[in-house]
Amino acid sequence: MEQTFVILKPSTIQRGLIGEVIDRFQKKGLIVAGIKMMQLNEDILREHYAHLVDRPFFPSLVRSMMATPVIVMCLRGKDVVTVVRSMTGATNCRKAEPGTIRGDYGMSGQENIVHASDSDENAEIEIKRFFKPEEIFDYTPLTLTALYSPDEL
Ligand code: UDP
Ligand code: MG
Repeated sequence: MEQTFVILKPSTIQRGLIGEVIDRFQKKGLIVAGIKMMQLNEDILREHYAHLVDRPFFPSLVRSMMATPVIVMCLRGKDVVTVVRSMTGATNCRKAEPGTIRGDYGMSGQENIVHASDSDENAEIEIKRFFKPEEIFDYTPLTLTALYSPDEL
C-alpha cells in the first residue's frame, strides 16, 4: 500500500481544527502510519518548498509555516497520494471545491490548512525528510477487510 505525507499547517492549529481534519482522513479509511507535533525551521522549509524559493510570497510562506508547531502525518492506503490530494482541494481555499478540506475550512491561498504530497516519489522523500524510520509504524488495522475487497489488498 502507498503512503503519503501531510502537514496540518499553523492555520489548522491556530483555528482549532486539528481534530476535524484528522477525523476526515480517518473516516475516509486511511491508516495513520505516523503522527507527531514539531516546530519547523527555515532550513527544512527551504528544502520542502524548494520549488517556491524564488517566488515573491516565499518569505511570507516560511513565516506562516513557523508561526506555531505543526502536526505531520504519514497516511497509508491504496492510491493514497491521489485520494488525499483530492480530499485537500485546490491550493487557494477560495477556489477549492466545497467538500474538500481547503474548500470547507479556509479562505486563503497561503493559510490553506494542509500540505499533501503531490506524487508517490515526493511522498517518500517528504516522509524521510520529516520522520525518522522508527516513527513510521507498519500495522494492520482490524477494519482493513471492511475497507477493501480481497483483490484490492
Ligand atoms: N502558496 C502561496 N501563494 C501562492 C502559491 C502557494 O502562499 O500563490 C503557498 C500555499 O500555502 C501552498 C504552498 O505555498 O500550499 C505550496 O504551494 P504549492 O504550489 O506546492 O501548492 P499545494 O501543493 O500546497 O497545493
Ligand atoms: Mg505542493
